[in-house]
Amino acid sequence: MPTLELPIETYQGPVDPDWCPGCGDFGVLKAIKTAAGGLGIAPEDLLIVSGIGCSSNLPGFIHAYGLHGLHGRAVPLATGARLANTDLTVVVAGGDGDGYGIGLGHMLHAMRRNVNLTYVVMDNQVYGLTTGQASPTTFMDAPTKSTPSGSHETPVNPVLLALAAGCGYVARGFSGDPAHLTDLIAGGIRHPGFALVDVFSPCVTYNHLNTYPYFRERVYKLEAVEGYDPADLDAGLKVAREWGERIPIGLFHRDERPPFEALDSVLKDGPPLVRRDPAPDPARFAALVAALA
Ligand code: SF4
Ligand code: MG
Repeated sequence: MPTLELPIETYQGPVDPDWCPGCGDFGVLKAIKTAAGGLGIAPEDLLIVSGIGCSSNLPGFIHAYGLHGLHGRAVPLATGARLANTDLTVVVAGGDGDGYGIGLGHMLHAMRRNVNLTYVVMDNQVYGLTTGQASPTTFMDAPTKSTPSGSHETPVNPVLLALAAGCGYVARGFSGDPAHLTDLIAGGIRHPGFALVDVFSPCVTYNHLNTYPYFRERVYKLEAVEGYDPADLDAGLKVAREWGERIPIGLFHRDERPPFEALDSVLKDGPPLVRRDPAPDPARFAALVAALA
């Protein structure tokens, strides 16, 4: 592991995770801490925002600012926090049920808005916290507690969806490979706009299909594919549809369009809103009143 600017212990949370032993979310937590340490982001400059679910308990397990929000609403909460304080590094953490179900509309609009957020989705193809119902990414025909004869719904493909929505950084990792995942999350944090990192993060208690061995046997890294260029959106769209015996992970796509913060007339000239005097300028206020009279 490369030398970290800040040691991983910097982010040691006040309580240990209460996830089931072996849950994939442990690897994701470690990867987020390692990415933050590698980039030298101090805990007081880091905000983790989540919704509801097993994985959404993550902000309680890391020493940083945390906001544990409502189901599916992590992205708008994070957007507000980031726009108020553009000095903060904001990471959104949650699961597939939270993000790709009730929160899906928020995610798609955040992608086209391109506010600087890094969204890490611990995708275990099931609702874990509520004990194993089918989620938006449950495979077709997969039996779950709510689909005992198999799911009859086409699963969401989050990578393909993100590419179609104009997301400027689209990656997929595997919690069984925390070093590779750390690189993807660090890349997402460095990316100046919205970044999605979808993570295969096995639920060892309620999903006995999408296990560590299942993914280990299938995943391959796009970084190892000769000639693969993340700047080529068409190449990303093609490989994002690949699924089955071989499943790609890595960086699918990155573009360099400027983030919302660099374009907005109020935000682009700084300082962050939280550091501005909230009292209106008397002359401008009087002019505004006069214009409305
Ligand atoms: Fe992880 Fe599943 Fe246990 Fe939730 S129920 S903590 S997702 S293994
Ligand atoms: Mg889930």
